[in-house]
Amino acid sequence: MKIAVARETREGESRVAMVPELVSKLTDLGYEVLVEPGAGARAEYADDLYAEAGAVVTDEALAEADVVIGVNALTSDRVRSLRDGATTLSFLPVNTSHDLVTDLRDYGITAFAMELVPRISRAQSMDALSSQSLVSGYRCAIVAAGLLRRFFPLNMTAAGTVQPAQVVVLGAGVAGLQAIATAKRLGAVVQAYDVRAAAAEEIRSMGAKAIDLELETLEGAGGYAREMTEERAERQKEALAPYIANADALITTAAVPGRTAPLLVTAAMVEQMKPGSVVVDLAAETGGNVEGSVPGQIVRIGHAQVWGGDNVPSQMPGPASKLYAQNLVSLLTLMTSEGEFAPDFEDEVVAGAAVTHGGRILHEPTREAIEGPAEAEEPVETPPPVEPVETSPGFETVAGAPSSTTGESSAPSSTTEAASAARDEQLDLPFDQEDDK
Ligand code: NAD
Repeated sequence: MKIAVARETREGESRVAMVPELVSKLTDLGYEVLVEPGAGARAEYADDLYAEAGAVVTDEALAEADVVIGVNALTSDRVRSLRDGATTLSFLPVNTSHDLVTDLRDYGITAFAMELVPRISRAQSMDALSSQSLVSGYRCAIVAAGLLRRFFPLNMTAAGTVQPAQVVVLGAGVAGLQAIATAKRLGAVVQAYDVRAAAAEEIRSMGAKAIDLELETLEGAGGYAREMTEERAERQKEALAPYIANADALITTAAVPGRTAPLLVTAAMVEQMKPGSVVVDLAAETGGNVEGSVPGQIVRIGHAQVWGGDNVPSQMPGPASKLYAQNLVSLLTLMTSEGEFAPDFEDEVVAGAAVTHGGRILHEPTREAIEGPAEAEEPVETPPPVEPVETSPGFETVAGAPSSTTGESSAPSSTTEAASAARDEQLDLPFDQEDDK
């Protein structure tokens, strides 16, 4: 069977779904690996490196493949060039890709979305949201240190003492914790805030100070944050204002699954920052945590430079691609049996990540958004009343009732139900609280 590595067509995308050093993992599974020419060029992986690793570099990669792997979803035009029944594995933002999902369904493509892989312990090695957030968080801290025209660490020299930079991080999920760890390693004094109660301990474990705003915490289902009310958001802004005014660098990474990013910092709050201060808004492309930030640009607000993130993992394409490729290898290993690509749709991870298969949309919230509510089940006809037949005193048998051994059960299979429930949870909650260890 053939796996093709797609050349990314999204503007500004530098990552690639497979790196040469992991090609052997796929050939060991029994696959032939095809690579579109130039697929890895922007991540510094030349075609020759793939060929040396045992892959075939060919323009026909997509047309010949049983499975196509990519970072971003293929465009509808490229989907049309796939073989019947081919499979794609990539990020696929289902909420904003209804036309594409419709095409994938209509062309009979099996599509898996990396952001829907359940975030359970067993699937940690397949968690591309985490691997790419790790890259983003690191990059944010480096950008802040690069833009700030002063030291991050304390320096005690014969010429005098230089005080360390004060860094504030808002949002302490995977990216935020990595930003904290990186800023700490560079010697800054770091304080951080997150609405989840569990985050305070995680912030402290990174050596930073957890800011306590004395506001109620906002735990959503599945270990994620909940959206704030307007009133809570106002109180949070007011309480955060002095911390932000005092910061040399502010890094924001807050997100709520399935929602635009929460606005945590107004332009007026940024205007209170000191001359030369910097703001790095990782959430700029999903709505922005900072009012006025622009994805892919540095804008000036008051005395501060405000950097807006735009496909941040792609700014470190080598490591981001390698981590992502490893996520794919793990997922493909789960989906391979005896050298054949054979995803088991009864498996929670496979079912959770599946978007389309066999001409149907399997991801229920997306199916409902595109196709409308599921049709109500046929009403069960009520059998005509029948006279009980006396058998022996105290027992009744009803004529016409299905025998327990021969009658067809109308109950849905528990595995199908579990898979469907797992998919439902993917709408907002791609991970399992039980497993958040
Ligand atoms: P995310 O990208 O959805 O959000 C980033 C952070 O923003 C979160 O910590 C969230 O609490 C925070 N946030 C939201 N609204 C905020 C606000 N108004 N003010 C301040 N902060 C706000 O989250 P993520 O980084 O993908 O993951 C979040 C949680 O999931 C973390 O606890 C993480 O450890 C956990 N997780 C678990 C697993 C697992 O396998 N069990 C895998 C990945 C992540």
